[in-house]
Parts: sequence; C-alpha cells; structure tokens
Amino acid sequence: MEIEIQLTGAAIAEKISLPPHLGPLGAWLEFRGVVRAAENGAQIAALEYEAYPEMAVREIRRLLETLAARHPCQAARILHRIGVVPVGEAAIYVGVAAKHRAEAIALLGEFMDRLKQDVPIWKRRAWPSLEPERGAVTRGTLEVQKSAAKTGDRSWPTAAGSGPALRSLDEAIAEIQSRCQPLPAVPAPLAEAFERVLREAVSAPEDLPPFDCSSRDGFAVLADDASEYFHVVDTIHAAGWQPRQLRAGEAVRVATGAPLPCGGLRVVMQEHVEREGDRINIVRNELVPNVRRRGEDVKAGQLLVPAGARLDAGKLALLATAGCAQPLVSPRLRVVHLTTGDEIIPPGQTPQPGQIRDSNSILIRSLLQPWPGEIVQRHLPEDFELARAAISNLQSPISNADVVLISGGASVGDKDFTRPLLEHLGFEIVFSHVNLRPGKPLIFGVQGACVAFGLPGNPLSHFVCFHFAVATALARLVGEAAPRFLRGTLAAKLDDKPNPRETLWPARLEFSGGEIRLQPLAWASSGDVTCFAAANALLRVPVNQGSLAAGAEVDFLPTTAMLGA
Ligand code: AMP
Ligand code: MG
Repeated sequence: MEIEIQLTGAAIAEKISLPPHLGPLGAWLEFRGVVRAAENGAQIAALEYEAYPEMAVREIRRLLETLAARHPCQAARILHRIGVVPVGEAAIYVGVAAKHRAEAIALLGEFMDRLKQDVPIWKRRAWPSLEPERGAVTRGTLEVQKSAAKTGDRSWPTAAGSGPALRSLDEAIAEIQSRCQPLPAVPAPLAEAFERVLREAVSAPEDLPPFDCSSRDGFAVLADDASEYFHVVDTIHAAGWQPRQLRAGEAVRVATGAPLPCGGLRVVMQEHVEREGDRINIVRNELVPNVRRRGEDVKAGQLLVPAGARLDAGKLALLATAGCAQPLVSPRLRVVHLTTGDEIIPPGQTPQPGQIRDSNSILIRSLLQPWPGEIVQRHLPEDFELARAAISNLQSPISNADVVLISGGASVGDKDFTRPLLEHLGFEIVFSHVNLRPGKPLIFGVQGACVAFGLPGNPLSHFVCFHFAVATALARLVGEAAPRFLRGTLAAKLDDKPNPRETLWPARLEFSGGEIRLQPLAWASSGDVTCFAAANALLRVPVNQGSLAAGAEVDFLPTTAMLGA
C-alpha cells in the first residue's frame, strides 16, 4: 500500500488530490475530523494538539501496515494538524484508496479507532473562548501561546488533561493529592505491619493493666496494716493468680507484675524486709503502694492508635498489648521503576566518553525504603518500540503496579518518549510541566488507582521531584498525611538571582539553640550530585525572589524522617 503521512502546523486544505499512478479504483474514501465547539461539556475556541513527530509518523505507518494486511487497500494519505486548531477546522484528514469500498471503510474505521491509543499525538489543552486582548486563535499558535504566558495560565480550565501545561508547585501538589486515593486496606499480622499505615483506629478492648498488680518483687499486705511482723501465707507468680482475702498480719509473696489477690493492698519491696522462714519483719516503711492499678494506663474503649498513623515499634507493641493481632493496614506498595537513556551504565562499570553511571536507581530504591513494598527496577532501551516490548515482557506486569516511575526522557527531546510511553500504557496525563527549578519537566499520570511519574533524569531533579511529588502520591496511596512544608531560619545567606521559576533548594538542616537552622548548599545545575551527601531538606525560594539574607524565615520540606516522627 502506498502511504503518505504528514504532520503539519498549517490548516488542512479543502481539497486533497489523489495519489498519482494508482490502478483502477473502486473507492477514494475521505474523512476529516473537525474540532467541535464543546470539549468535556465546556465551550471552547480551539484544541491544541501536541506530538512527538518522528514517533507519531512511524506509529501511524506501522498501524496502517498492520491494518492493510487485513483490509487490502491501494493507498492511504494522512494529514494531522499539530498546534492550535480552531473550532470548525480539521485536525485530521484521512484518505484511503481501494478497489472495493468495503475495504476502504474497514481500514478507515479501524485506523481512527486505534489512532488515539497507538500514536503519540494528544490533545494538549482546550482553549476557552478568548477575549480579544488575548489575541485571536487564528493569529497562530505562537502568538496565542505568548499571550497565554503573559496573562498567566491560571485562567485556563483545569479539567484533567486540558488544564495549563505548566503547573505551579502548589497546583501540582494539590492535583496529586486529589488524583491519588488511598488503596484498599488489608489485614496484616503484626510481624508484617511495621511501617505500614493503620487504616482503622484501634481502641483498648479492656482496661490496661487489666488487673491491679505489683510493680515490685516483694510482699503484699493490707494497705493500712501497721503490724511489725507478718506471716507469709501464699506466693503468687505472674501467671498463677488465686483470689484470697488477706487479714491483718498476713503477707503474700508477689513477683513484679503479679496480680494482687484482693483489693486494698500495698506491696513492700523485698529489699525492705527481713525474712525468716515464713515470717517477715518490715525494716523500712515506704509510703508508696508499689501497685499498678487496673486501667491506670488506659481505660477500656480509649483510643490507642488513630487511623492514618504509621506503625512503628512502639505502636506495634501497643497493638499487641491490646490484642489487635491483625490490624487493618495499607497494602504493600508495588512499584515499577524504569530507567532510560542509552548513555546510562551500571555504577560498577567504567564509563566510556559520553557515558554516565546510573545513580537514579539506587536513589529511588533508597527513597522508597520508608514505604514497605516490592520494587521492580529495569533499564529500558532508548527506543519507543523496544521499550514498549521490554515493558510487555516484564515478569511483574505494569498492570499489577500501584506506582510506575520512569527516570529520564521526560522532556521533549527527540528521544524523550516517557509521555507517549505512559499514554500507550493507558495513563491519562494530568500534567507534564511544573514551574519549578530543578524539576520542570515532571509528568504525572493516572490510570484507575495506579499513578505514574515521569521524572526528569538529572539526579537533583529526581531528588526534588521525589520529595514533593512522588512522596505526596505515596502518602495518599497508603492513607497517611502528605509531607508538608515547615518553617525554619536560614543559617547563612542564600545567594541567587531572581528566577521566574519557584525553587526547591537543597539544604542542610540542623538544630541549634532550640531552633531549626537551614544551611543552603551550593549547586549550579540539576546534574550536580555532591549536595546529596549533605542534603536533608529542600528550601522553598519563591518566584523571582533572588537572594535571601541569613536569619530569614523560610519554608522547607524535610527529606529525612528526623522531623516527621
Ligand atoms: P533526560 O531526562 O533523559 O533528558 O536526562 C537528563 C540528564 O540526566 C542526562 O544528563 C542524563 O544522562 C542524566 N540521567 C538520566 N538518567 C540517569 C540515571 N539513571 N542516573 C544518572 N543520571 C541520569
Ligand atoms: Mg535520557
């Protein structure tokens, strides 16, 4: 089949000619997909299309060839318009020539059905009706984009996939929080519940301690018994309780934790008595009763651990005490982490010119440690097709994952295929850029309960994007509070030029004189790695701020658990 494919920024002509030199024709079927005035229920002026041109052309060709094997046709001509396409104008033209109309109709129908899912061309945003001062859409893509940048993206609709391409840091965090939902809770034995999030509050089923008991090894006597000598009438070990009413002059030998045989007793420490056979003599009288009263720690029904709490050692011990042996907790997270980049080699190898050792794999693996689960890590070939094949061969399929992370290839370079790959995998792209330094080309996608991030490959961008974006998503998925910015004081001047992007600046957090003090760390590029060894916080530097003086109050995000506890 003769195939001609063109992606174009210009309007598609009213009349498209037939390919020359075709044999006898039965049908020349033409289809034009025209932009409608309503998108997702809202009135719009235009739709903006974006594509990975090289990949899109290759995928369209592949699709047509596959379809032609089943529906033999003579020629196909595809024109797809990219950029802003005003309402009423064609976004796509498909012309199919065949000997019989049925084959042309079948090929065209299937092609249009599969175009959306197989080809990296997508609706980047819907343009609402434009006021005149913003410039008419017909003035062309470039001018409209410029005017949108001037007036700020905030006025554009924020419905999924059609909102502003460039999110502010706060918008991105809010969107991640609203698009990620807690995964269904599961019961887990205590031994497997460490660091998982409790999803159902646990209250005390009974008083704790459940009975009056001795807090010392010693002798229980009536609290008001002033006798000089006592007759030891019984011995009670921790496990061998027998009720018994004591009389004046009687004592019961008790061990620490042993239940007392009746009410109204005190315990005399064994160090404070002299014993001869079954007679004791108190040599030192203390006023303390040495008794732990029933319910003095917790009363039945009292809240022990709230829902949303992370189960650390202490909380697990509390649950065990309360008999909660199978708490309802967050599931173990299943994470697939895919690295990209043909220049990336394992850390143990010596780089040839142009090669870079992989630091993102261990970075992501380590950063994921606080969230119990399984992580599958693979390196993908830097080719859309091969990467697609590698993913479909994964032992644990992507469809089983809760979180998919792709390192690198998040931008719009020739070889950057993260976005089309995620779309091919069925993810709806919620946003693809954040007005942030470092970490601008950050992709966030969702597919049902599964979330995906395309992280810019530079290690520092990775570090930043993980802490504000991925960690927010993980917190939502497991059902705990998302990481939040805290306030601290700058320990030294932060030297910077005003920047139109908000910045998350690596810093070293220390406690000094009862204050949280933040030392800004030196970094020149998002490729810098030296600050990793010292960074345990990210300072928030507002848009166009420039330098900040020592002593200034700043917002920061801790990157270790030291403050979160
Ligand atoms: P990319 O986002 O693919 O354009 O990559 C941006 C930069 O990050 C490039 O210099 C890459 O070499 C580097 N990079 C990508 N992946 C890794 C990795 N796994 N470890 C270290 N550097 C990486
Ligand atoms: Mg790359």
